[in-house]
Amino acid sequence: METLIKKAAEALSASNHAAALTGAGISVESGIPPFRGKEGVWEKFDPMEYAHIDAFLRNPEKVWRVFLTGLKDVVDKALPNDAHKGLARLESLGILNTVITQNVDSLHQMAGNSDVLEFHGTFAHYRCSDCSRRYPNGDFDMSQLPPRCTCEGILRPDCVFFGEMIPPHLLMRSEHIATQCDIMLVVGTSAIVQPAAMIPVIAKRSGATVIEINAESTPLTNDISDCSIIGKADDIISRIITELDAIMGTDGKP
Ligand code: NAD
Repeated sequence: METLIKKAAEALSASNHAAALTGAGISVESGIPPFRGKEGVWEKFDPMEYAHIDAFLRNPEKVWRVFLTGLKDVVDKALPNDAHKGLARLESLGILNTVITQNVDSLHQMAGNSDVLEFHGTFAHYRCSDCSRRYPNGDFDMSQLPPRCTCEGILRPDCVFFGEMIPPHLLMRSEHIATQCDIMLVVGTSAIVQPAAMIPVIAKRSGATVIEINAESTPLTNDISDCSIIGKADDIISRIITELDAIMGTDGKP
């Protein structure tokens, strides 16, 4: 483990255009459960019944009442953990340029990263299914479910449900970043949901070093990752930052 952490820190210390792809696992220590893996949300909820656009359109009241309100509550209370803060630190050291996240929780922006691509959208805004008017989180009435727009249309999170397309500009920019970065950090994603799971593959094919941090191995671990560190993201990233500070002599700076 120590050797892998040193290897990751050494690679990062020599980089000035790294990128990261993050998934639900990075926010687990902030109190937001992942979808898959141990204690994942899908142990309790069938994704096709609660996270597919067809399910939402069929019965928005049920999806809001059973699934979205609970997820919104935990996301609303969550704060960045040491893994989010570590990625923000990597940006302030001039190493990491962009975070591509599958998460909808805004924790990377809260931690201080400035270029965050929200590949699957966000819970920071909600939008009307009819007129597309956008509402900042907290700016609409949740006392009756589903919440409604002033036009009476049904509000939905501004995220990408299963069965929906990734906005083309996000897909293109993410793929471009994957071809340009020299290191891709892949943190807390099961690497199963497409097309997000292709991003590290594109990075690898374009010559980047792929450093994976996850609580367990994934489909990337053996074939794509150059360095796979198994453990909790907050702990591993903190240790990489400590090592990096020792290599770069940047302890305590910015
Ligand atoms: P996922 O739920 O499919 O997989 C989570 C991964 O994180 C697993 O591989 C698991 O082993 C790993 N993990 C769990 N705890 C960890 C920890 N402490 N440290 C490091 N790794 C840990 O997540 P995904 O790949 O992001 O894909 C699922 C979809 O779920 C995404 O589209 C995302 O939008 C959505 N989602 C987002 C949030 C959020 O915004 N925080 C939460 C749940 C699901």
